[in-house]
Amino acid sequence: MSETNFHFETDGEGFAIITWDMPGRSMNLISLAAMEELAEAVERVASDESIKGAIITSAKKDFTGGADITMLASLFGAYEEKFAADEKAARAELLGQSSRLSRIFRRLETCGKPFVAAVKGTSMGGGTELMLACHGRVVADKGTKIGLPEVKIGIFPGAGGTQRVMRMVDAQAGLQFLLQGRTLDAAKAKAMGLVDEVVAEEDLLACAREMLRGGLSPVKPWDEEKYRLKGPAAIFTPAGFQFWPAANALYRKETQDNYPAARLIMQSVFEGLQLPMDQALDVESRYFAKVLTTKEARAMIRSLFVSLQELNKGARRPEGVPPTQFSKIGVIGAGFMGAGIAYVSARAGMEVVLIDREMEAAEKGKAHCESLLAKEVERGRMSEAAAGEVLARIHTTTEYSALAEAELVIEAVFENRQVKADVTQGVANHLGENGIMASNTSTLPITSLAEAYREPAEFVGIHFFSPVDKMLLVEVILGEKTGEKALAVALDYVRAIRKTPIVVNDSRGFYANRCVTAYLLEGHLMLTEGVPAAMIENAGKMAGMPVGPLSLNDEVGLDLGWKIVQATEADLGPEAVSAEQKALLEELVERRQRFGRKNGKGFYDYEGREKRLWPGLADIAAPRNAEKFDIAELKQRLLVTQALEAARTVEEGVITDPREADLGSILGFGFAPFTGGTLSYIDFMGVGAFVKLAEKLAEKHGPRFKPNKLLREMAKKGETFYGRFGADESKAA
Ligand code: NAD
Repeated sequence: MSETNFHFETDGEGFAIITWDMPGRSMNLISLAAMEELAEAVERVASDESIKGAIITSAKKDFTGGADITMLASLFGAYEEKFAADEKAARAELLGQSSRLSRIFRRLETCGKPFVAAVKGTSMGGGTELMLACHGRVVADKGTKIGLPEVKIGIFPGAGGTQRVMRMVDAQAGLQFLLQGRTLDAAKAKAMGLVDEVVAEEDLLACAREMLRGGLSPVKPWDEEKYRLKGPAAIFTPAGFQFWPAANALYRKETQDNYPAARLIMQSVFEGLQLPMDQALDVESRYFAKVLTTKEARAMIRSLFVSLQELNKGARRPEGVPPTQFSKIGVIGAGFMGAGIAYVSARAGMEVVLIDREMEAAEKGKAHCESLLAKEVERGRMSEAAAGEVLARIHTTTEYSALAEAELVIEAVFENRQVKADVTQGVANHLGENGIMASNTSTLPITSLAEAYREPAEFVGIHFFSPVDKMLLVEVILGEKTGEKALAVALDYVRAIRKTPIVVNDSRGFYANRCVTAYLLEGHLMLTEGVPAAMIENAGKMAGMPVGPLSLNDEVGLDLGWKIVQATEADLGPEAVSAEQKALLEELVERRQRFGRKNGKGFYDYEGREKRLWPGLADIAAPRNAEKFDIAELKQRLLVTQALEAARTVEEGVITDPREADLGSILGFGFAPFTGGTLSYIDFMGVGAFVKLAEKLAEKHGPRFKPNKLLREMAKKGETFYGRFGADESKAA
C-alpha cells in the first residue's frame, strides 16, 4: 500500500500503529489520496491475521483539520456540467463519491478488528467522524479541540457523524453539537460521552494499547443484535414524543428554516434513528449529496471558508513590503473604542501606549480592559496570571513622547475634525520615522484627515466595529494618498489581532455602515407605512439578519441615527435624506427623548435584560392590519436594499473585490450568512432576476430600489460579480 499520508507499522504485540502525517502541510487534511490510503490501511488490518487491533494517531501537533474543503467545493463544481447533461446520472455519481468516506469508516467499524483513535490538538469534521467510527477514543487532556463545524459553512457531517453522535450521547446535547458546530475540549467531550479516556499527551499511545489489550470489542453497541436506543433517541416512545416536536420548534427558531444543512441534519437524524446503522448511513449519505448541491452550501463555502482564508492570508496585501512585527502600538483616546483597541492589541502580545487628555480618562480605559479580562478569567478562558500579563502591557499616559518607538498609532478620539487634526499633529511630532498613523473615524474621510499628518502616504483608516473585542471585521480605509507601506502595516496589524480585514476606498460611510444604514432606513419606512413593529422585526430575522432593524437601531443609538440624518442633509441637501425617516427620528429623539438602549427607551422599552416594543409607537406611526402586508416582500425589501447599496459601492469603486463585500457584510453586520453575503445574494439569484426584483420594488416603494447602471449592464451581459470582478473566474456562480 502507498504510505504518503499514513505510515503503517506493527509492533511486537500485533497492534498496527497508523500515523497520519500529510506531506508538505502543517495540518492533516482528508484529501482524496488520504481517503484511499486509509481504506487500504483498514483492509490491511482486517485481512492480516497477525494484527489484533489498530491505533490511529497523528505525527503532527493536531489530529486533523477535517476534509479538504476546496476538494469538496471542486467536487461539486465538476458536477455542474454533468447535471446539465443528465441530472439523474450525475446525482448518482455524486452520491457515489460523496459517500466514499462514510463507506470507508463503516468498513473500519465493522471489519472485525478493534480500532482506537489516539487524538491530540484539533480534530475537526471528517477527523472527528473517524474518531467516532473507531471502537475506542483517547484524547490528550490539554489542547484537544473536537468539533463538527460543517454546518457553519452550509454542509453537515456526512461520514457517519449525524448517526454516531446521536447513538452515543444524550439526544439534546447531540443535536446541539451537530447544529451549532461548536468545539469541545477534552473534558467536555468526555462528559458528553464522545470520548472514553483523557490522558496526558505523552500517555496517549500507552492508553490506546491498554484499551486494545483490555479486549476492546470490535463490535459497536448499535451492531449488537439486542441493541435498543435510549431516551428521546428512541423516537416512538414517550420521551421521544416530548423531545422531537420541541426540537423542531427550536430548529425553526434558530434557523428560520434558512439553512438547508441544518434542516437536512434534522431529517438525517430523525429518519436515521429509525433504521439499522447501514441504512441510516445511506440516508445520511443521500442528504449529504443533496446538501452539496444547494446554493447555500456553495455560497457559504465560498465566502466563509475560501474567501475567509484568502483574506486572512493577506490576499490584498501589497507584495514587496516586508511584514511588520508589532512590539509596541499607540492608541489615542481611551474611550469606548480606544479601550477596546488597546485590549485586543495587548491580548495579541503587543505593548500598548494608551493616551488620553487626562490621566483619569486613560486609566478609565485601562479599567475597561481589566473588566473584560476579568470576564475571560471568570469563564475559564484565561488564567489570572495571563490576564495580569495582558493588563501589564497597557501603559497609560498623557505624553505623546511615549509613542516614539511605536510601529503604529491609532487614534480613537472624539469624532471631530479639529480634535482629530490636533491629535494627528501631536503624533506627527513624536512618532518615529517608521511608524504609521491610523484613524478609527467612522464618518470623516481619511483623505482629508491625512492632510493634518506630516506624510499623508503614511496615514490610513483602521475602522473597527463595536464592541471591538467581539467583532471580527475591520475595514482598512485607503485615503487618496495612502501608500503601500501604510496599507501593509494596517493589514499586518489586523491579522496580528486575529480579525479579518477588508480594504475599502475612502468614501462617505465606507462600506459596512452604508449597507446597515439602508437596512435601518427600510425598517423605519416600513414603520411609517403602518407595518406593525413586531412584523418588521420578525421579517428581519426571517430574512436571516441576526436582529430586526428596530432592535439594531436601538443598539446603535437613535440619537446617532438622527445625527447622521442631519449631517447628511447639511452636507448633501434635503434630497439625500428620507423625509419620513427624518420626521420619525426627530419625533423619537428630539421630542420623546428616546435614544435607544443607552437610556432604556428606543423602539423598545428596556428593563434590565428585558425589552418590549414601546406601545407608544402606535401614536407615532399607526399600525395597519398585518394581513395587508406580504411577509415575503418585507423580507426581500430588507435584503435587497442592502445588496443594492453594496452594488453601488462596487460601481463607485469603494469596494473592488466581491470577496470583501461578501465577507464584510457577514462579519460586519450579520448579513444573512446563508446567502454568502451581499453580492453573492445577487449572484446566486442571478443578476437578471435581481434587477427585475429591484425594479418591481422600485415601482411600488420608490426610487431607492432602482438598480444602478452597473447592475443593469451586468444583467444585460449575463455577468456575475465574481465573474466580472472576482479574483478567480472559475469560482463564479
Ligand atoms: P468616546 O467618546 O467613548 O471616546 C473618545 C475618547 O477620546 C475619550 O476618552 C476622550 O477623553 C478622548 N479624547 C478626546 N479628545 C482627545 C484628545 N485631544 N487627546 C486624547 N484623547 C482625547 O468615543 P468612541 O465611541 O470611543 O469613538 C471614538 C472614535 O471611534 C470616533 O472617531 C468614532 O467615530 C469612532 N468609532 C466609533 C464607533 C462606535 O460604535 N462607538 C465605531 C467605529 C468607530
